Amino acid sequence: MNPLHPLLLGAFLASTPGISFWIAWPRRWWAALAVAAGSAAVWGSGFVLLTSAHQRQTWIGLGLWAIVGGLYTAYVIGRNGGEYDLIDEMLEEREAKRGALEKIVGEAKVRGAKTEAEQREVLALYGLVKGLSEALNWDEIRPKLEAAVQQFVGVDEFALYVSDLRSENSLHPLVTRRLGNSIGANWKAIERYLQANKIGMNVPHVMADPESAVMLPIREGQEVMGFFFAHVAPGGDPQALVQKALSFADQTGFAFRRLKLFQEVERLSQVDGLTGLARRGVLDQKMKEETVRAKTFKTSYCFMLLDIDHFKKFNDTYGHQFGDVVLKRVAEVVKASVYETDFVARYGGEEFGIVAPRADHVGVLRKAEAVRANVEKETFTLGMETIHVTVSLGIAHFPRDGSTPEEVIHQADNALYHAKETGRNRFVDIATVRK
Ligand code: GH3
Ligand code: MG
Ligand code: MG
Repeated sequence: MNPLHPLLLGAFLASTPGISFWIAWPRRWWAALAVAAGSAAVWGSGFVLLTSAHQRQTWIGLGLWAIVGGLYTAYVIGRNGGEYDLIDEMLEEREAKRGALEKIVGEAKVRGAKTEAEQREVLALYGLVKGLSEALNWDEIRPKLEAAVQQFVGVDEFALYVSDLRSENSLHPLVTRRLGNSIGANWKAIERYLQANKIGMNVPHVMADPESAVMLPIREGQEVMGFFFAHVAPGGDPQALVQKALSFADQTGFAFRRLKLFQEVERLSQVDGLTGLARRGVLDQKMKEETVRAKTFKTSYCFMLLDIDHFKKFNDTYGHQFGDVVLKRVAEVVKASVYETDFVARYGGEEFGIVAPRADHVGVLRKAEAVRANVEKETFTLGMETIHVTVSLGIAHFPRDGSTPEEVIHQADNALYHAKETGRNRFVDIATVRK
């Protein structure tokens, strides 16, 4: 069949405005419908006319229809310019943005869940740290720390070391758990390992050989408060362990500092600033303990009260400041004159108390004489002058002279009074006064 069959050509011409119209209003369903309806109507009427006698007029009509449709389409396209492209672009952009937004929301949800978990962990850790910081001493904190490491760091073989108040450079073990012969079980061994491998203790370190372990300092600010050592569980990730241990150490450093400060305050409140001896309160406590011990084991103890002679005059003559120097030295001499196991405290101004556990009556007299003589021997120089001080001592025993610490102290005080009364620079056992 001739492709230019009048009916086909007619159909094409009839649909031209529709096609161009579709181009002008792209992708609008109503436009498509209008095109289909218009084309069908024009072609239908053209078909009728072409098959009848008025062929020429029909062709002219179809041609005009096509031209008018094309011109209108061109007009619409010209008028609207690139608006449709723009709209399409915007639509595409909006679609892309929606996708991106959905992705962000999805990610945020995941992150939110993660943060929630992290927050829970931090809260739990905080609660524990609070517990840690409420501990009043290292014995109290030890089991809490042990549980905390297992719970939060998730290891079972570990050690925690804490820096000492007195020896700044050495650390001593607070907790060692299931480490056996590991390097981590001994601070000196850890120190040797660090030194041998030129590793500073200020940074976290992962040990691969001879053991799989991580170690890191527990710090508060710049100050190293302690040290953490843990075995990596078989198949465990050392880096992940370091991260967990670091956040644990972060929280613990503060608790350690608090405890150390507490300890320091306690120590300061117990120790006399001038002489470095224990204060009266500690002596009272010691007397109570000794009384319980002596009662339990049916033993005894001795209490001596020592007072510097004419110290008021000494201060008046040489000045209070020099008096302090003498007081400090007398404290040293007294401490050096008794056993290591004897307890010496500053009882009051220029009075000292000495507790000698399980001391026999005769041995105590020797001790008192040694104290007296050693103080007398001591020379003090002020300018050109050489000065001596003397002390008097009162002695009482538990349970011989009293059944309570207060009674024993009272009897020692009586004895001291007698020593003063009978010339000073001497000792008196209360037993000899009563006779
Ligand atoms: P006695 O032989 O009877 O003990 O005479 P005393 O002058 O020593 O009398 P007492 O024990 O009553 O006097 C205590 C004096 O010790 C009073 C005070 O001036 C002095 N004193 C107390 N504490 C200190 C101190 O911390 N430093 C100095 N420099 N003097 C002190
Ligand atoms: Mg006195
Ligand atoms: Mg005195």
